[in-house]
Amino acid sequence: MRLWQKIALLNIVIIITMSMLTAFIIRSITINAMRSEGLIQGESIATNLSDRISELLLYEDYYNASEVISEFINKERDLRYIFITDLNGKLFAHTFKEGHPKEMLNWNPIAKDSTKSVQLLNTEEGNITDIAVRIFAGMPAELHIGIKEDRMIKTLNSIRNYMILLTASVIIAGALLSFVLSRMITKPLEQLNEFTDNLSRGDFGRQVQISSRDEVGRLADTFNNLSKELLLYKERTEESYKQMLRTEKLTALGRLSGGLAHEIKNPLMPIKTLFQAFRDNPQITRQDVDIVLSSVEQIDDVVTKFIGFARNDTLNYSDIYVNAIIKDILELIEFQIKEQGISLQIELSKTPPLSGDRPMLKQAIFNILLNAVEAMPEGGKLRVQTSQRGEYIIIDISDTGIGIPAEIQEKIFDPFFTTKKDGTGLGLSISYNIIRMHKGQLQCKSDVGETTFSITLPAANKT
Ligand code: ADP
Ligand code: MG
Repeated sequence: MRLWQKIALLNIVIIITMSMLTAFIIRSITINAMRSEGLIQGESIATNLSDRISELLLYEDYYNASEVISEFINKERDLRYIFITDLNGKLFAHTFKEGHPKEMLNWNPIAKDSTKSVQLLNTEEGNITDIAVRIFAGMPAELHIGIKEDRMIKTLNSIRNYMILLTASVIIAGALLSFVLSRMITKPLEQLNEFTDNLSRGDFGRQVQISSRDEVGRLADTFNNLSKELLLYKERTEESYKQMLRTEKLTALGRLSGGLAHEIKNPLMPIKTLFQAFRDNPQITRQDVDIVLSSVEQIDDVVTKFIGFARNDTLNYSDIYVNAIIKDILELIEFQIKEQGISLQIELSKTPPLSGDRPMLKQAIFNILLNAVEAMPEGGKLRVQTSQRGEYIIIDISDTGIGIPAEIQEKIFDPFFTTKKDGTGLGLSISYNIIRMHKGQLQCKSDVGETTFSITLPAANKT
């Protein structure tokens, strides 16, 4: 059940209960008021009548007494019956047309030390209030009148009808109102909910528009601030992370400087030789110029590659083919490989593209390849393999270098863990993070004589 439905339901339940309760209270108050009013009236009627009848009773004037009470009962609408007992307590006169009820004298006897009595009788015709007064103080002669509650019941019925109408309208109006109100309360809450959902998914910097100035409004303000700060924080961490990647790249490239020097030195050799020859014989052929030019281009190429790799790129996802990246990196470390006498075995199979950031992935794979090369200072075999397993692309990088002892295998992905004299210990931790960022996995296995790093990356889904 949605929140607004709960609020609306709760309101409706409260409204119904309150209206029922009100109706019940009003009804009992009315009944009580009418009864006591009726009682006062009834008592005054009875006393009045008893005064008129007392003399007739003394003379045992049955005829006139009957006359008086039947006249009286015809005049008073609410009277059901009147009966009188004589000085001996025997029935003297009554207004029942078809014989009087047998137990009548026991209905409402007046207590000895009392002058009147009131009793509510529950009869077939409904409730009747019997009011009895003593005609002569200290004598058994009594006058009873029975007052019907018909009028009261009629009044009560009409009150009840009004109440039903009122309750129904209150319920309908209340239901509508609580529906509108609960929507008003829950709409901003729903907006907030959606907003925090986005926030938890890392969508920072967005703002939620809630104009109300109540608690929800204040909560929204707080969330808006939080969102802004999170964005700022994210940008800053990204910035410092980028800085770190760059530093690591430069350091790693620095470690390749031996190779870099060679790569620059090599093409310089023919240039140097040619210029030496030029000093003795200042004749230069077109072929010589071509050699100089291609050597210079080679140097330019190497330097451009290094600079290009060290460049700080912004995160940008595109379709990437891992084979192309591997070829790029191998070119970068080619000379180091040759210099250390490492034999290279490349087995690239056709793999689908993956969606990722090219410079990042290049750095991730570079770190692993460089580690492999660094693990084989005395030469060895470097094998680079790509394959596809289901929706995943696998890159295996194996070397026959120094290996990783079991006790440090768990630590090698930790930042700053290094066993190298000039190591930063950041390479694998960076690779690990980049690969995780691409929803992939990085695993390491080091057995006797062979260390393998396996990268698993999901292929781009073409939907
Ligand atoms: P660094 O290369 O700066 O030391 P890395 O995070 O790249 O930092 O590597 C951490 C450690 O993992 C290395 O110091 C090394 O001990 C170990 N390691 C990584 N790759 C290999 C490998 N192919 N063979 C042996 N040891 C390795
Ligand atoms: Mg390293």
